[in-house]
Amino acid sequence: MNIVVCLKQVPGTTKVNIDPQTNTLVRQGIENIVNPFDTYALEEGVRLKEQHGGKVTAVTMGPPQAEEILREAISLGTDEAILLSDGAFAGSDTWATAYTLARAIDKIGQYDLVICGRQTIDGDTGQVGPELAELLGLPFAAYVSKIEEIGNEYIRVRRMVEEGYEVIETSLPAVITVVKEVNVPRLPSLRGLARAKSAVIPVWTVEELDVDKNMVGLSGSATRVIKIFFPQRVCRSEILQGDVASQVDTLVEKLREAKII
Ligand SMILES: Cc1cc2nc3c(=O)[nH]c(=O)nc-3n(C[C@H](O)[C@H](O)[C@H](O)COP(=O)(O)OP(=O)(O)OC[C@H]3O[C@@H](n4cnc5c(N)ncnc54)[C@H](O)[C@@H]3O)c2cc1C
Repeated sequence: MNIVVCLKQVPGTTKVNIDPQTNTLVRQGIENIVNPFDTYALEEGVRLKEQHGGKVTAVTMGPPQAEEILREAISLGTDEAILLSDGAFAGSDTWATAYTLARAIDKIGQYDLVICGRQTIDGDTGQVGPELAELLGLPFAAYVSKIEEIGNEYIRVRRMVEEGYEVIETSLPAVITVVKEVNVPRLPSLRGLARAKSAVIPVWTVEELDVDKNMVGLSGSATRVIKIFFPQRVCRSEILQGDVASQVDTLVEKLREAKII
């Protein structure tokens, strides 16, 4: 069972600044972590490998420092890790991100399952997993909370839906996104930490990947962030006069005027 796990490096804090010129995240000087949902994706991949044999390959697209999360992935049981990093990938929207990841997964080849987190805690769109499935032409299951059974050619999963769960079965290879209920991620082992320290992590650039340069990075992105801003909080207060009954009448009137009721 060969599994590819997609991991994204994200800021480990909610106190982030946005570059007003480019509308992108200012990543300098902030601590970065593995996107929390991706730790569950990784753990699930490693568990499947332990049960069925095969290998886990972790992939991330990001700046050079994203290599840190790949080392962390190796310390947790990943066999191979690949960093997709090139100035040309900078500013990718979700489709350009999924396109680059899909080309990398094509290049890795010989895989049975691709596992992503349900969403990231920075971009937060939850779009990359389904887009990846579309680009790879594979079946897809989102919000997987349990892999019930997996065989050579099929997978049966439990996926969370609003008022319960659904069990679906599909052919392999497939793409799934997982939620935190799927497992409890392990801590790194000493052996894993030693492997991570010495591991050689290949970096694939535009040249190494069979990508259309017009489909990656900011210029290859069909969508643009026009403006990012913190909404202004406007607080207005008013103390109503009179007896309780007239205060209630005034309050109801004001709420109606403001179209709150
Ligand atoms: C309209 C729009 C415009 C944008 N424009 C810009 C821009 O101009 N500049 C800019 O810097 N950013 C931009 N972004 C943010 C950028 O698109 C996202 O950082 C990136 O595409 C991933 O999206 P996400 O964080 O929402 O991931 P999600 O879709 O929430 O992630 C789901 C899962 O996909 C996998 N995944 C996601 N990203 C990666 C990755 N990089 N490597 C490996 N696996 C991954 C992970 O398993 C993750 O759990 C834009 C986003 C949008 C929606």
